[in-house]
Amino acid sequence: MVAYKSKMVERITLPSRDQRERALEAAGYNVFNLDAEAVFVDLLTDSGTGAMSDAQWAALIRGDEAYAGSRSFDRLESAVADVMGFDHVVPAHQGRGAENVLYGTVLSAGDVALNNTHFDTTRAHVANQDADPVDCPVPEAHDPDADAPFKGNLSLERARSVVDEVGAERVPLVIQTITNNSAAGQPVSVANTRRVREFADEIDATFVIDACRFAENAYFVTQREAEFASATVAEVAREQLGYADAVVMSGKKDGLANVGGFVATDDESLFEQCKQRAILYEGFPTYGGMAGRDVAALAVGLREAVEESYLEDRIASVRDLGSRLAEVGIPVYTPTSGHAVYLDAGAAFPHVPANEFPGQALVCELYREGGVRGVELGSFAFPETDRPELVRLAVPRRTYHREHFDHVVETAAAVLEDRRDVAGFEIVSNPSMPELRHFTARLEPCPT
Ligand SMILES: *Cc1c(COP(=O)(O)O)cnc(C)c1O
Repeated sequence: MVAYKSKMVERITLPSRDQRERALEAAGYNVFNLDAEAVFVDLLTDSGTGAMSDAQWAALIRGDEAYAGSRSFDRLESAVADVMGFDHVVPAHQGRGAENVLYGTVLSAGDVALNNTHFDTTRAHVANQDADPVDCPVPEAHDPDADAPFKGNLSLERARSVVDEVGAERVPLVIQTITNNSAAGQPVSVANTRRVREFADEIDATFVIDACRFAENAYFVTQREAEFASATVAEVAREQLGYADAVVMSGKKDGLANVGGFVATDDESLFEQCKQRAILYEGFPTYGGMAGRDVAALAVGLREAVEESYLEDRIASVRDLGSRLAEVGIPVYTPTSGHAVYLDAGAAFPHVPANEFPGQALVCELYREGGVRGVELGSFAFPETDRPELVRLAVPRRTYHREHFDHVVETAAAVLEDRRDVAGFEIVSNPSMPELRHFTARLEPCPT
């Protein structure tokens, strides 16, 4: 059931086919380089792109811009305590700032970090500490057709084999990303979180939850994990996060804000160390690189993120988009995640080999055909990892309506109809950090 009505609107227009063609060429066939004005339905990311509520806008106006001890920070602290169950908060300008603060504190050169799947900025921050990010997804995570409730889980079997190989002393950090963004946004069960807690204790490692989509994850737990069938999302969120030593959070996801992030923990010593590093990289620890008004909006957003009506509306609209795309014949990763529909470009374009980036080909076709912007999360974004050629259509929170999704479905159906003409791509300019190449690299269509 729909949970919102509009109170403010923004005009969007669909550029002509010719304009789209030229925009794509000028962007080096990398949709990160497109002007947002040239995009009709923007499903590039759900990060910071959502609509704030009237309560958030009200909080924004009343934000306290004091450098130290701001009232807005008090609001954030109590929201984090109530919603996530942690006493200490170190704010950061966004999730990756929080990652730098926390992982820079916990990791040293030569260490290994385990994660169900490292999100791209997480992988880069671990690598930036000269540590080694090792993924431990469950085997079904990268099977687009496997029907399992928690394909985002961390494989304890894989984690143990890594520890057996490198030695426990080299593994000071275990991360669980909920939901598992880089594994098609699949949820993680509370049972799995409990086992990871025990495992971290066994090897004496710090257990961090990347909580960017903790509320969406908690919603899936109430739907799919029998033990929590009658629990509220808020109860599940607190239970699951409660097993971690610390969380890293992007306020741009389940903080329902346009910017912001934080580390939260109950560990006094970790808190003190993070605060020091935060002063160096983010700002004084009561604002952490955010304006006071943004801290205030985030404090309200965190509470709204665990409202049942919001989550029901959101998860249903994403699931609906996924099933309608599947109905018109687009190979879709199942089950659908909470924040995005993942398309299997390898299956859609079997004639385009992996080294010519079938996912990027699909991303470009969706833009060319209908001004729809998605993002590649296959061989282009994750070089040298063995994963399916996925394209993510991320759904901004509280932003698009059924008519927008109708247009996306029609666009995808038209692309599929003409699939034989679709060519692959080659990279013509490559940035220096391979972990981040998909953000800025330029491409050209392969000759056909
Ligand atoms: C978005 C995201 C981050 C980084 O957060 P930013 O606010 O974009 O810096 C980290 N981990 C996961 C799982 C994310 O989805």
